[in-house]
Amino acid sequence: MPYIIAIDQGTSSSRCVLYNEQAQPIAVAQREFTQIYPQPGWVEHDAEEIWQTQSAVFAELLQKQKLKAEDIAGIGITNQRETTVIWYRKTGIPIHNAIVWQDRRTADSCEKLKQSGYETLIQNKTGLLIDPYFSATKIQWLLDHVEGARQLAERGELAFGTMDTWLSWQLSGGKLHITDVSNASRTMLYNINDLCWDMELLELFNIPASLLPSVKSSSEIYGLTAHNEIGLNIPIAGIAGDQQAALFGQLCHQPGMAKCTYGTGSFLMMNTGAQLVKSHHRLLTTIAWQRGDQVTYALEGSVFMGGAVMQWLRDGLLVFKQASDSEALAESVADNGGVYFVPALTGLGAPHWDSSARGAIFGITRGTTQAHLTRAALESIAFQVDELLQTLSDDCGAPIAELHVDGGAAKNNLMVQFQADISRINIIRPKNLESTALGAAYLAGLAVGFWSFESINRTQEIDQRFAPLMPSDQVENLKYYWQKAVVRTKAWME
Ligand code: ADP
Repeated sequence: MPYIIAIDQGTSSSRCVLYNEQAQPIAVAQREFTQIYPQPGWVEHDAEEIWQTQSAVFAELLQKQKLKAEDIAGIGITNQRETTVIWYRKTGIPIHNAIVWQDRRTADSCEKLKQSGYETLIQNKTGLLIDPYFSATKIQWLLDHVEGARQLAERGELAFGTMDTWLSWQLSGGKLHITDVSNASRTMLYNINDLCWDMELLELFNIPASLLPSVKSSSEIYGLTAHNEIGLNIPIAGIAGDQQAALFGQLCHQPGMAKCTYGTGSFLMMNTGAQLVKSHHRLLTTIAWQRGDQVTYALEGSVFMGGAVMQWLRDGLLVFKQASDSEALAESVADNGGVYFVPALTGLGAPHWDSSARGAIFGITRGTTQAHLTRAALESIAFQVDELLQTLSDDCGAPIAELHVDGGAAKNNLMVQFQADISRINIIRPKNLESTALGAAYLAGLAVGFWSFESINRTQEIDQRFAPLMPSDQVENLKYYWQKAVVRTKAWME
């Protein structure tokens, strides 16, 4: 059985990637699905459509490559995290659209929880900060707003799941109602110290335990597919949330190793090993994965505007036609010309947490050109990640020596070199920037014996290494002005 398939269930599309024994992605199939916006601030997905697109791309991949179910040694699932769906156990039909992680409809109930003083309790138990992102208040909303849902839930007739749970239910023909620890740790109901659903939190959110899936490790044979269209009896053998899967896919398997995914936003995650590190700067503590009995924890921080700054220059200001043009344009000037761009377009996240901040561009003179602006925008991606890196190392009490990078904007050499320079960090960029799907494939491949732990380390090809080159006085000067600019964007909205 020469292949592993990764199911990559993202926020905007359903993808499947086929990997060979060298862990090369030899074929990909992908379909977008509908984004539903019923009201400002609400975001939903049709879970049935997610399953239909996901099973269609699976079948397409097999067909394109002329493969049969017998050729697939195992399936790994990685998914958009926190997105919540509830369905009837009997029919497998959802009671409502899935509520997506971005959805803010439960902001008021989160605010009430904070005001009632639950923040420390929740952070201590789950590693998370009270926020509508996480599944708990979304489940609560569904039980309170879908007619009859609460009674059905109390009678044990409904099932809750994040997208990994929903897909494994579907793949197994309703046999599996499971999730893995990494996804469970994003629900705000899972106790990451005791490794179980937390009864006190279930009571606080008024959620019946009968709704919940059983929590498994991230790498084991959970069950087999029972679906004619994609093929029968393929082992479902790996599950991890998208950021955790990327950390695994980047081979950040030792404590202290970190990755940053530069996509629309930037997502930094560091392996803290068997040690659960509590953040003093409002970063998230989360479970990275579990293999066998061994649970690995991580610290996580993210910024909202990463590569999205490039989209804004492209679509909002029409500075260039494609994000990839930004590198040559920024290279055409020697430096930022004193221009600093703080992309607080939707406020500032970690470590500032100021939702009233707004974007601003400082230091403009008559000599400023589009090239300086573009360079400043690329630098802003790295400055923000630098702040996260510093926060992470403060929480851990040690500097981070090395950073593994992936995501679309990590293709930009100028930006990555600038990151290495200002953060004084060595950066490793793999050839394959799709670490998320690869991580899910590794987890499944390990479980079915397709790879050994040693052999996956031999599969990764490095594209380029970046070392810090910039003189330290120049770094200090750049950071001084960046910090000054950030301060001036704060508390803008009144
Ligand atoms: P996502 O998974 O969040 O959709 P991707 O990992 O596909 O994101 O990365 C896309 C993002 O990267 C976009 O915001 C785009 O503007 C940015 N991007 C893509 N290529 C480049 C580049 N060469 N330089 C800078 N930014 C880029």
